[in-house]
Amino acid sequence: MKGVVIKSTGSWYDILGEDHNIYKGRLRGKFKIKNLNVTNPIAVGDYVEFEQEESADSSVIKDILPRENYIIRKSVQKSSQGHLIACNVDQTVLIVTLATPRTSLGFIDRFLVSAESFRIPAIIVFNKTDIYDETLKEQLNQVMNIYTQIGYTCLATSALENKGIEELKSLLRGKKSVLSGHSGVGKSSLINIIAPGLDLKTGEVSTFANKGVHTTTFAEMFEIEPGTFIIDTPGIKELGLYEIEEDELSHYFPEMRALIGECKFHNCRHVNEPQCAVLEKVKQGEIAESRYQSYLSMLSGEEKHR
Ligand code: GDP
Ligand code: ZN
Repeated sequence: MKGVVIKSTGSWYDILGEDHNIYKGRLRGKFKIKNLNVTNPIAVGDYVEFEQEESADSSVIKDILPRENYIIRKSVQKSSQGHLIACNVDQTVLIVTLATPRTSLGFIDRFLVSAESFRIPAIIVFNKTDIYDETLKEQLNQVMNIYTQIGYTCLATSALENKGIEELKSLLRGKKSVLSGHSGVGKSSLINIIAPGLDLKTGEVSTFANKGVHTTTFAEMFEIEPGTFIIDTPGIKELGLYEIEEDELSHYFPEMRALIGECKFHNCRHVNEPQCAVLEKVKQGEIAESRYQSYLSMLSGEEKHR
């Protein structure tokens, strides 16, 4: 039978079968994934072919179907290897707020660069708009403008006042979405509104998968309505930059990517080179200063190792 992995606890996997039952499965023997140097062969979101074992109520995974994309980070145990976080993801949703705990634009940009590098579309949700004063409302406008112009979908929400919730639901519908955000921004509160069945504890230092009981470092996928999945990545606040080279960094800023080939030097780093198309657009205000500053700080590596 075919199914999708919804949870991984090391050697055992929860598989949502085509028949909509959940199976416990494992790999038999060694399973090598071609061209991917990872500590875990299977992750949440993987489509697998599996067979039930006759003498046990468990299954054996026979095959992993080709992946459309994956999110990977450096393995904590073996830094030469990667750790798969999730596979076959349709989009990532970053929940932020301009109120407290305020999310920095630098953090947002780093997240977007990671998502770009994994080729996964990103959505930014600005929560807690009910407590924005006039100044913050003005900032929200400006910031949403910056990201919308680049091509990112932005949404303003208030979990407290139930604003933007229908819009959020329709952005998620029919897709597999990874939800991220610093703790305190209202991730659990939003999820509780869109998926009350999960019954997450809010205001706790825990992610919505733990429900405050046990702590797992494995991602988990929840079907919140038929065909709509959200993926929680406990303990992972950012996607992390994975093997991004200096000379490809600007490719992950879509507004800079659009200028490829327009600088005088083909290997322009867009720092202080003459006739640099990126610097020109920054000067003209067509590339946001904050975006360019994020680019520079990522280029210099000061953000790379966090
Ligand atoms: P998480 O750590 O991201 O899961 O955040 P929580 O959902 O636990 O929320 C953190 C705190 O922010 C809690 O005290 C919530 O009641 C509060 N909160 C969440 N969403 C909103 C919102 O839209 N507006 C306001 N004013 N507070 C919110
Ligand atoms: Zn340049």
